Amino acid sequence: MTSLISLRKGIWTFLLVFGVAIIGSQGNQPAVAAGGIVPSGNAIAPDRYVYYPGTEELALDEIRVITCGSGLPAARRGQAATCFLIEAGNGEKFLFDIGTGSMANIASLMIPYQYLDKVFLSHLHTDHMGDILGLWAGGWTSGRPNALRVWGPSGQTPEMGTKYAMENFLKFVNWDKTTREFKISPIPGQIETTEFDYKIPDQIVYQENGVTIRSYPAIHTGDGPVSYLFEYAGLKVLFGGDTVPNQWYVEYGRGVDLAMHEAFQLPDQLVTLYNQPPQLAWRACCEFHTSPQAFGKVMSTIKPRHAVAYHFFNEEATRYGIYEGIRETYEGPLSMATDMMVWNITKDNITERMAVSTDDAWSVPGTAVQPPPEKGRPDPISDYIDKGRWEPGFRAQDEMLDEHMEKYNLQDQDYRPAMYKKMESE
Ligand SMILES: [Zn+2]
Ligand SMILES: [Zn+2]
Repeated sequence: MTSLISLRKGIWTFLLVFGVAIIGSQGNQPAVAAGGIVPSGNAIAPDRYVYYPGTEELALDEIRVITCGSGLPAARRGQAATCFLIEAGNGEKFLFDIGTGSMANIASLMIPYQYLDKVFLSHLHTDHMGDILGLWAGGWTSGRPNALRVWGPSGQTPEMGTKYAMENFLKFVNWDKTTREFKISPIPGQIETTEFDYKIPDQIVYQENGVTIRSYPAIHTGDGPVSYLFEYAGLKVLFGGDTVPNQWYVEYGRGVDLAMHEAFQLPDQLVTLYNQPPQLAWRACCEFHTSPQAFGKVMSTIKPRHAVAYHFFNEEATRYGIYEGIRETYEGPLSMATDMMVWNITKDNITERMAVSTDDAWSVPGTAVQPPPEKGRPDPISDYIDKGRWEPGFRAQDEMLDEHMEKYNLQDQDYRPAMYKKMESE
């Protein structure tokens, strides 16, 4: 009986989609071929539950949010840690957190790196900033023309703030930075950090070109974490990083269009699947994070147009328990986020879809040109190491390189003769 119903449902769905395709095709080609024959299944079927990045222009008054990470610190191949890309209809793009593993998802969208230069950190746990490494270096080698811009909260002491983290990040990557600086422009290897006071609710931390971003204190494992409210074209997206239910999120989140908030794994899931001792499990879930039940209570209080639960490994073993937990306290519109889930937000509609993107992404050229290398920097390769180049290996590539020089008209920049001379002098 069940299979009959689903078969019938399948036929109706097919007819509906096919019918829409025929209506939709009338502008370009005849819906019915000569002789009254209906065209085959070649017609385009619109309105699938799929977003193909790079194929849809945003309307000027629209926002798109893409999940580039939604999981846990022990990122897995199928789910990276927290990262959301918010795109405004004016073309501006903003990354909210950039957790471990998220860079591969960001890259798969094939957005020119010049537009991926603004990162807002909710707090300084690695599952929210671990892949700043990848964006910093990947964007630098793929055409970002300017410094990476990072916004984040202060801490109880200067050493607990975002500025300290970014300054010491650049120390951590000093070898990478110094060697790239010599070969590529050094400017994109810099980080411009804007640190703001985590304690001030509703403070504007960014305001440019029709976009306003405000911050609010959040409560997690130490002072510092914040939530962000993104406003554009009269639309509001509220992004909570790691937090327990807190008064600021509830006070300022009322009636927002899209409310993203963590809904953590249930304590028993942490025991049986994450190998945490039961005592740590309940604290992780429900003392420094937000349980599904508490998430639901927050949402049924602020009543957003659409709620997004994230920060759990979303799979068969976990999602039903978390969903049922949320539904104990919230009945409204809800997405159970996983990586590559997308929302388009306008005044009239909020749609949820999955982005389908390539595993084999390349960087895509934008409009910006990267500044040239800076003259006068010391070469990070010493003469001792330089002279160890093995000439037969270099000679083996000559023919291929001759063609390259000719193809790109690089003859005046061909310094192979000088290089070989150095090798011969040994
Ligand atoms: Zn955290
Ligand atoms: Zn986290």
